[in-house]
Amino acid sequence: MISRYECTACNVTSAVEVLDVEPGAHGDIVASVRMHHATCPACGKRNPEGVREQNRDERNITIITITTMSALTVGAYFVWWLALPVVGLLGVMTAMFFVKQPTWWGALNLAQLLAVIAFAWFVPRWAFLVPALQTLVVLVGRRRAEQLDAPWQRAAEELRFFDDSQRRL
Ligand SMILES: [Zn+2]
Repeated sequence: MISRYECTACNVTSAVEVLDVEPGAHGDIVASVRMHHATCPACGKRNPEGVREQNRDERNITIITITTMSALTVGAYFVWWLALPVVGLLGVMTAMFFVKQPTWWGALNLAQLLAVIAFAWFVPRWAFLVPALQTLVVLVGRRRAEQLDAPWQRAAEELRFFDDSQRRL
């Protein structure tokens, strides 16, 4: 369906085709969701609203991650096996992610996880370091540019601007 994208950065309104969406109430919702991550063809800026939203989400995820993982780190210091659910959950998540999308980062992540499990197995006294280390890995992983770029790239594929001045991401 055809829609309009109003850029709040440069105030230019561009015609845009929202691919694979039929006009209608549902289409309007899908279109507005996608345009959250639109990149303006006129000024090349990302939708400021989407940028704000992404920053807020990233901050929330960081806070939740640090809080939960710190609690588990402290807990595991006293009761070593509290480190197990962290390892189990992250192990499954990392493995699933790696199978779906094998990358060097994923391989590295899996390798360090196995090393850490082996370490905790032999020295349960230091098992509390596992959630602490995993916190860092999760936080660094989330900061990777490719992960933050993903919604914008997806939107770029699902939105086709008519403007000749369209720029590629
Ligand atoms: Zn613009």
